Amino acid sequence: MKIGIIGCGNMGGGMVAQLAGAGMDVSCFDPDMDTRARMQTNGATVFDNVQDMVAGQLVIILSLPKAQIVEAVMVEIAARIETGAIVLDTSTSTPATSQAMAALGQKHGFDFVDGPVSGGPAAANSGTMTMLLAGQPSAIDRLRPVTDVLTAKTVMVGASGAGHAAKIANNMLCAANLVLVAEAVRMCEAAGVAPDGLLEGVNAGSGRSGVSEVNFPKWVLNGAFDSGFTMGLMRKDVGLALELAQQTGVNLDGFAGIADVWLNQSTQIDDSADFNEITRHGAET
Ligand code: NAD
Repeated sequence: MKIGIIGCGNMGGGMVAQLAGAGMDVSCFDPDMDTRARMQTNGATVFDNVQDMVAGQLVIILSLPKAQIVEAVMVEIAARIETGAIVLDTSTSTPATSQAMAALGQKHGFDFVDGPVSGGPAAANSGTMTMLLAGQPSAIDRLRPVTDVLTAKTVMVGASGAGHAAKIANNMLCAANLVLVAEAVRMCEAAGVAPDGLLEGVNAGSGRSGVSEVNFPKWVLNGAFDSGFTMGLMRKDVGLALELAQQTGVNLDGFAGIADVWLNQSTQIDDSADFNEITRHGAET
């Protein structure tokens, strides 16, 4: 199958390697020169022009930093996409952008499917991501040979935009749990309880979460802070949750303080740092 990938960073680069390794004919485009060189060694044909790259592709995967870049790239390539092709957007974007891109696809004769992912670069590099799919069911069915290579689990969430809404909710919960588990660990440490024992107890109880089961042992307690997901990307996702709540008229009273920690109180942690560094916020006070 002929596949084009646009955006070959931490996540897209892993997808390139997986699909090429599965014998697919993979082409890619990324503006970053170092990334292009890495993709060549990953077995992809590297283009220096995104419009030339998309011509003739049956499936085009996007793994881009944010919704505004998804829209800009789509406007650039829409007229060059083959009739009947499918664009799978694995970026963490917005429901409104996905719906607008699906409408653009209808105009130009291609399908646009939301497919935001979880699992980080390790899962992208091993074909074990979770993907939240939304859009036309017939297009999602036709993507099966690709999603089978890239994922350990897919969830059909609903119509266009639903995948990105669900992904924003997922990351909102992850952002909240990072702040809350860090506070629980500090509270218990101050009360004389070691983090390992506390987390073993929490993970056997109703307070457990992906953060207590995965992030703390894998990236926080051992000081590794090397998940491959940045503070900047999580701050973007916290902002997307606030934006979606505002657009839908939903009150996020509980989340407001957590969002303030990510966006305003932790500015000493750079956007380029690992997102698990947020657990250090508050330790110094
Ligand atoms: P990244 O910054 O490593 O990669 C993004 C890539 O997009 C870069 O290589 C950049 O050069 C490229 N790019 C920027 N503008 C472009 C353009 N106009 N055309 C083509 N390429 C362009 O980011 P990442 O960590 O790989 O994340 C990609 C997306 O996946 C984001 O939306 C992120 O929120 C989401 N995501 C990331 C993770 C993670 O753990 N890293 C997990 C789940 C979802």
